[in-house]
Amino acid sequence: MPEKLYEGKAKILYTTDEPEVLLSVFKDDATAFNAKKRGQIVGKGEVNCTITAALLQYLETHNIPTHYLSTVDPTSMRVRSVTIIPLEVVVRNVVAGSLARETGLPVGQPIPEPLVEFYYKNDDLGDPLLTGDRLRLLELATPEQVTALQQYALSINQHLMTFFDRCDIVLVDFKLEFGVDAHGHIRLADEISPDTCRLWDKAEPDPQKRILDKDRFRHDLGQVEGAYQTMRSRVLQAVTSLSEA
Ligand code: ADP
Ligand code: MG
Repeated sequence: MPEKLYEGKAKILYTTDEPEVLLSVFKDDATAFNAKKRGQIVGKGEVNCTITAALLQYLETHNIPTHYLSTVDPTSMRVRSVTIIPLEVVVRNVVAGSLARETGLPVGQPIPEPLVEFYYKNDDLGDPLLTGDRLRLLELATPEQVTALQQYALSINQHLMTFFDRCDIVLVDFKLEFGVDAHGHIRLADEISPDTCRLWDKAEPDPQKRILDKDRFRHDLGQVEGAYQTMRSRVLQAVTSLSEA
């Protein structure tokens, strides 16, 4: 019988009748600042499930192995069960968020060579940024795995930038989680959504109005649900235009 395996901040994972398959159910619950801020974004579960499914399928067609198997209903998908590598792999194309805060670089400054950063996925420690030495010290992944994660992250970034370009969106930065499957292979897991990406409307010059991601919730900018729905329809439009091309 299916049972709840894990309830996280944004999703619930259930076991299924198939041992290597989990059901990932996307919730409307929203958290920010390591869950110090909590709330709900109506419709977010559906939007994030739809966008994640579209992007993971797109990446699969570009030879990126992911955990995605199929969509079950608007808020849930079947995924391959993996052992999550406890690293948050962040790719940055434009200065924003903690990079701006911690370096003094201006928000919005383009980054010529994308940055790949590793954070320790550990809520109790506040997901700290790791140095190369600390990454080796913690042994959360082998050096070969770290190299593979870096290469996957850059390749995924190229594909996602191309995709979001079709949506008239700047992919500012995003967070990825990877896992190891039953055959020992690394797969992209978790989600890619407005919760885990910074997405700016290319056509909107106003630095607050252009934000179409969870920063609207983090910083109480209003129009949170509207931003998620805008991203949903732009992603679906891009999928349609790609299938017609
Ligand atoms: P969190 O609060 O830890 O961010 P989420 O609600 O975002 O949790 O997601 C639930 C958990 O599921 C996360 O810890 C994530 O790492 C994990 N996860 C995502 N995809 C898979 C998978 N394919 N197999 C196993 N665990 C997964
Ligand atoms: Mg999460």
